[in-house]
Amino acid sequence: MTLDFDLIIIGGGINGVGIARDAAGRGLRTCLLEQGDLSNGTTRWSSRLIHGGLRYLEHAELSLVYESLHERETLLKIAPHLVRPIKLLIPIFSGGRRGKFMITAGMWLYDLLSIGKSVPGHEMFTAREALEVLPALNRDGLLGAAAYYDAQVTFAERLVVENALAAQASGAQILTYSRVDRILYDARRIRGVRYTDLRTDRQYDLSSPVVVNASGPWVDRVLEKNVKPPIRLMGGTKGTHIIVPAIAGQPEVACYLEAESDGRPFFIIPWNGMLLIGTTDIRFDGNPGKVIAEDDEINYLLSETNHAFPDAHLERKNIHYHYTGVRPLPRKEKKAAGDVTRRHIIRHHRREARGLYSIIGGKLTTYRSLAEEMTDRVVRHLRHKGPECQTANEPLPGAVIKVSRVADELDACDLISPESRVHLLNVYGGHALLIKKLVTADPRLGDEICQYSHAIAAEIIFAYQHEFPTTLADVLLRRTMVGLSPDLGRSALPKALDIARHHVGWSTARADEEERRYLREISRLSD
Ligand SMILES: Cc1cc2nc3c(=O)[nH]c(=O)nc-3n(C[C@H](O)[C@H](O)[C@H](O)COP(=O)(O)OP(=O)(O)OC[C@H]3O[C@@H](n4cnc5c(N)ncnc54)[C@H](O)[C@@H]3O)c2cc1C
Repeated sequence: MTLDFDLIIIGGGINGVGIARDAAGRGLRTCLLEQGDLSNGTTRWSSRLIHGGLRYLEHAELSLVYESLHERETLLKIAPHLVRPIKLLIPIFSGGRRGKFMITAGMWLYDLLSIGKSVPGHEMFTAREALEVLPALNRDGLLGAAAYYDAQVTFAERLVVENALAAQASGAQILTYSRVDRILYDARRIRGVRYTDLRTDRQYDLSSPVVVNASGPWVDRVLEKNVKPPIRLMGGTKGTHIIVPAIAGQPEVACYLEAESDGRPFFIIPWNGMLLIGTTDIRFDGNPGKVIAEDDEINYLLSETNHAFPDAHLERKNIHYHYTGVRPLPRKEKKAAGDVTRRHIIRHHRREARGLYSIIGGKLTTYRSLAEEMTDRVVRHLRHKGPECQTANEPLPGAVIKVSRVADELDACDLISPESRVHLLNVYGGHALLIKKLVTADPRLGDEICQYSHAIAAEIIFAYQHEFPTTLADVLLRRTMVGLSPDLGRSALPKALDIARHHVGWSTARADEEERRYLREISRLSD
């Protein structure tokens, strides 16, 4: 009997699509099933840093820091339109848990572990120099600061989309809104999966000798209905971020601070024209799809920011929106939430169902190396002969054409405003030229639909032609990035619906339903 696929992946977060890209590129017949849209889970609720993880040095996780710093360089190279260097400042205050000596030593070690990197090394500042960089910083007890570089992926959602597009271009099937209900196996060998297409409510079986459970914080939920006796691998913690307007005197430098109330590290990061502040770290055992920010978490982040920047006077009413995600961490009941390793573990359920693997933990930063390790194991399992892993060398689809060339070609198009050209470059990289083509054919598609992101009408059409969204929420929140604007895309909604009606063929009833659905989806991000 011919099997449908060599490999089925459950989950369309960064790890699932990373594995799909690698596996399909090595010639494996690959299928990825995602219960929602791409990036439906933790990936888009992260701090969006591609970082070595300075904090892990405190836990002596040197190899994890080394791997992360190496991957940071790789992502700067294969996705330069999405992953960019960011400068961070660590203010040092008298009485802080981490003194000047400890921070200086950490900085040297961080530089050492990222030897050969493309970003500058660290610098140490006096208090006066620190205030020149961050004039609004609390001066009380300020001794100085350390400055260093990491990287930021402003739109983690796009990193997921581009990995999925690359996988698809290599022959993978990417099925969104397809929930895996059962893992099929007999005689302790994997046979495939049973899934429901949630758009039609119909169930299907797919066969494959290998299934990878890359469902992030849902890993145990996927296993519980299938693997006997039940096992618990995950010990998730939830983390909340708030998004507020930029603070005067807090320029394009991120801050890595120690919370005044409990000494926990947290970030204040310039992001998408606003500030992304987070995060909390609280044990969470519930449904990852239903996790929300608690008042205590929001108040904690507000009061810690006001302590660091006393003139900010941030209040709840200043928050544009907030988001919360569940870290898919390995179960470690005896450890404090912040002490649980961020390293990933690949578990082969060989005794229960040979060919079934689960991924526990991991970071956005290390998704590519995790995918390589997972695909190596699948290749060995199947005794597959094919090309070696190429994902560290091949640019993601938006980076195939050089950023500078794309910028020049966009600049030559006066049908698109300069602000919209910058937006197109930052969101799509080289694929922005396909959007420009749509505008050249119909100049009205160059009209701006969002005053904050400067997205244009053509992007809605482009998304439906090339990036397999289903709902308007998929387009606004996870393709065009309009939904991450301060108003969560509310003001762009009428124009976006209009374009979908006239160019994508939606009926008025469909447009009304999509509008309701969109407003429902963003309601959990604001009060
Ligand atoms: C608050 C916070 C901050 C973070 N900050 C950073 C950071 O700055 N840098 C960094 O490197 N890492 C960071 N991380 C960690 C990082 O975000 C995660 O490790 C990573 O995104 C996990 O990706 P994933 O693909 O494993 O899981 P997910 O993104 O959750 O994807 C799993 C997918 O599986 C799908 N799924 C579940 N069940 C099924 C089913 N039955 N059928 C089909 N599909 C299913 C879900 O819908 C989901 O889309 C942060 C995490 C959190 C929570």
